Amino acid sequence: MDCIFCKIIRGEIPSRKIFEDEEIFVFHDIQPAAPVHFLIVPKQHIGSLAETDMSHQKTLGYLLAKTGELAKSQGLNDGFRTVINTGRVGGQEVYHLHVHVLGGPDPLGPLLKKR
Ligand code: AMP
Ligand code: ZN
Repeated sequence: MDCIFCKIIRGEIPSRKIFEDEEIFVFHDIQPAAPVHFLIVPKQHIGSLAETDMSHQKTLGYLLAKTGELAKSQGLNDGFRTVINTGRVGGQEVYHLHVHVLGGPDPLGPLLKKR
């Protein structure tokens, strides 16, 4: 499949891998938006959160349940932010569902500017 994250999971495109098991692949974002910025990707190709249904419950639950442990493994002991961009309005660039995990020593600031 011509999906950049599927290619990363298969090892056809290099990545700075943090963790991998049967359900998820975790790697550093190539263009970090915070001192620590990594992506948690389900190995199953799911286009976006707009395409999920109850058949994805186990995978999505697993992914989120792993997030705290993965964040701590990257030194994020004082909190972090998770972001899932979905579709055009959400600013999604790669159409393989992924969770951004962002953090660093300092507070990240407001999620969005208030109107
Ligand atoms: P999104 O806008 O939520 O779809 O985010 C896609 C993210 O993937 C962006 O933060 C990119 O910097 C990141 N990205 C794109 N290509 C790669 C790559 N080859 N390795 C690591 N991260 C990537
Ligand atoms: Zn994919």
